[in-house]
Amino acid sequence: MNTAFQPTISFAAAQDMSDGLASFKSKFHFPQHEGKDAIYFCGNSLGLQARSVEAAIRQELEDWRNLAVEGYFRAKNPWLFYHTHFSETMAGMMGCSPEEVTVMNTLTVNLHLILQSFYRPTKERYRIVMEAGAFPSDQYALETLVRLHGLDPDDALVEIHPREGEKLLRTEDILDTIARQGNSLAMTLMGGINYYTGQFYDIPAITAAAHQQGAYAGWDLAHVAGNIPVQLHDWNTDFAVWCSYKYLNGGPGAAGGLFVHERHGNDPAFPRLGGWWGNDEKTRFRMEKGFVPKPGAAGWQISTAQVFNMAALKASLELFKDAGIENLRAKSLRLTAYLEFLLGQTSLPCEIITPGDPQQRGAQLSLFFPKDGTAIHARMMESGIICDYREPGVIRLAPAPLYCSYADVLRFHDVLKSFS
Ligand SMILES: *Cc1c(COP(=O)(O)O)cnc(C)c1O
Repeated sequence: MNTAFQPTISFAAAQDMSDGLASFKSKFHFPQHEGKDAIYFCGNSLGLQARSVEAAIRQELEDWRNLAVEGYFRAKNPWLFYHTHFSETMAGMMGCSPEEVTVMNTLTVNLHLILQSFYRPTKERYRIVMEAGAFPSDQYALETLVRLHGLDPDDALVEIHPREGEKLLRTEDILDTIARQGNSLAMTLMGGINYYTGQFYDIPAITAAAHQQGAYAGWDLAHVAGNIPVQLHDWNTDFAVWCSYKYLNGGPGAAGGLFVHERHGNDPAFPRLGGWWGNDEKTRFRMEKGFVPKPGAAGWQISTAQVFNMAALKASLELFKDAGIENLRAKSLRLTAYLEFLLGQTSLPCEIITPGDPQQRGAQLSLFFPKDGTAIHARMMESGIICDYREPGVIRLAPAPLYCSYADVLRFHDVLKSFS
């Protein structure tokens, strides 16, 4: 496929012309650079604002102003059920039933909450297998979790490292590490895509390996949601959490997603920390004793829906619904491959550490610079290319297919050429 790529304006323009998703670009606000839209390759960190967001937030302001407390039932989007407005679209992207998914709180908070349900260590079974170099919040969450249980992180947390001289994890090494824990394994908790390398892990194989040891498999899908469609139900994953402000464009601090497989979610006795929003609506307002969880992931809800926080996400997900996650993934595969092709035409002193196999990555390419990474990143930013730098030495480029074009990728390449 790559041999057909060309580093020319006419080629990029022809790709954009035949791209069925090209019109979505105009539905977003872009940061400006010298009077023009910047090239935005940071959607893996904070997605752009959809133009429809303002009206979505205004709607809730109006309903609050005009209806006050009656807005819970009579708002255009009744607040009492606000989290359900996301269920269908989220379920479609994550490969589960609408009951298996919910939107609430934020990612690390949800991770802590769901870990209270799934991590119940015993003397024998208490270990958690995770990737070395996981996103810091996940590292902190697991470290403090095991300490809360009186355990030593050096013993309870088993980190999988790349082999000497390598940057990616081999699936066989992940599976081996899981198998070696035997009865001591309580859970695996991995990021679906590693934020630093961009490596997309084999979720079904890792999940099956955890189950084989009698352990749960949990996933942090922050970099997967809205990027790669997954099949959380069929892959038998036990639980997953993600945030909504990266590829999903929900805005800074947007409410996060939670998946709980129905075999746990439909068990009202499954241990959890409850609150009134997770209680059955039919009995919630009787204000009586006795927690009755709603079936599904919504049974982990705790507090009143954060309507203003969620309004932007609602607007953004409508665009995802229109675009279709499978179409986005198809474009993304090609757009990222084009970026990879163009990087191959430059003489940047770096190595692409993200897997070359398109099935093992999403919309991100991580460029490792043995030196001068920060200086090169600063030059990119000055040139109107918004991307980020992560220690040690990595510039991450994420051409999100919803609002990035082939012409953007080519313009990026032209800017790089001016560096040498
Ligand atoms: C972005 C990200 C987070 C951020 O957590 P918040 O609670 O939303 O601040 C956590 N984990 C991973 C893997 C991430 O990529």
